[in-house]
Amino acid sequence: MAAYAERHYGLRTHVLEHPRVIVEHVTVSRTFHPVFSEFARDVPDRELHELPGLCSHFVIDTDGTIYQLVPLCLVCRHTVGLNYTAIRIEHVGLSDREIMHTPKELAASVALTLWLMQRFDIQLRNVIGHNESLTSPFHRELVWRLRCQTHGDWIRADMNIYRRRLVALVVGGSSSGLSPRPARAPAERGWPGSRVGRWSTSTEAVKLAAEVDKVPTF
Ligand SMILES: [Zn+2]
Repeated sequence: MAAYAERHYGLRTHVLEHPRVIVEHVTVSRTFHPVFSEFARDVPDRELHELPGLCSHFVIDTDGTIYQLVPLCLVCRHTVGLNYTAIRIEHVGLSDREIMHTPKELAASVALTLWLMQRFDIQLRNVIGHNESLTSPFHRELVWRLRCQTHGDWIRADMNIYRRRLVALVVGGSSSGLSPRPARAPAERGWPGSRVGRWSTSTEAVKLAAEVDKVPTF
């Protein structure tokens, strides 16, 4: 990852020192399993043919289960121009619109995002969809041919709704409809659990949400 960071950002490090951006993505899959398999292979990606392979800090399943695949201290490769400073959240589903209509998944997503915003002091305007990457003030890319590269997941219209949900969670606090639920360990599903951390939507996230005293405008 350090070699990638040097090629693309002029930073020879694999450490995610102070993340300033959260990028929301869509897996374009029906389940978590193929997503995990794809990331675990660590082979050059099909689009840009580079190493290291694509990865994600988090993947949220349709039932609201949050899987942490990569520690937050490590850079992940997921969004051209922003990997050096961004946390990736993947959502199982075929489109952002579909995820917006999957209540448990969306609730888990906004709770996790808000918790990350609080933990790393990330501003609301820097919670973006992958499709908004090119207009981020943190976007930087040394490879010319990639300077206008982005993907179609999480368009601005859907992210505006998503950001309003974040604000509503702060304003509504624990009355936001979120409730604690147990996470299922990946090992129980027969996956290599040693590679995967797990997390569930928690009262802690709701509590932290209520402590955010100022929501930036967007
Ligand atoms: Zn994406």
